[in-house]
Amino acid sequence: MTMYKKVVTTPATKRIALVAHDNMKQELIRWAQEHKEKLICHHLMATGTTGNMLKKELGVEVEALISGPLGGDQQLGGLIAEGKIDVLIFFWDPFEPMPHDPDIKALLRVAAVWNIPIACSVSSANFLVSSPLFENEFEKTIPDYDRYLNERI
Ligand code: PGA
Repeated sequence: MTMYKKVVTTPATKRIALVAHDNMKQELIRWAQEHKEKLICHHLMATGTTGNMLKKELGVEVEALISGPLGGDQQLGGLIAEGKIDVLIFFWDPFEPMPHDPDIKALLRVAAVWNIPIACSVSSANFLVSSPLFENEFEKTIPDYDRYLNERI
């Protein structure tokens, strides 16, 4: 499928989604604690358990969605496709991919389709928060489905 692209602007204040599998939750909480001052400038969203742990441990506002194993990863994927998520911090567990595997693939795929900045490890998450783009507007290309449709129908 050849997909046309269009340029959109991601706002300075971003909607940031955070997800951590069970064995990775402490790592994500430690990372979020370290970068709390930067994170609280944005709208934080997370899968159910991750979100509630972040709220409790950091005392920050987090919009907690459905728990990952119950469909929260897919809910996040849907929000990405709707253009409602700007950044994804996704600490999936490389040592325990099952039974999460289909959700991991689906979420990473849709995030790549919509050209969302993704971090799946502490060091890549550090790169994201230390980028000037983290707190500024930036332009990115996303699929232009309307144009594709106009040429097909
Ligand atoms: P959780 O979901 O935050 O509800 O634990 C994460 C996941 O397992 O995908």
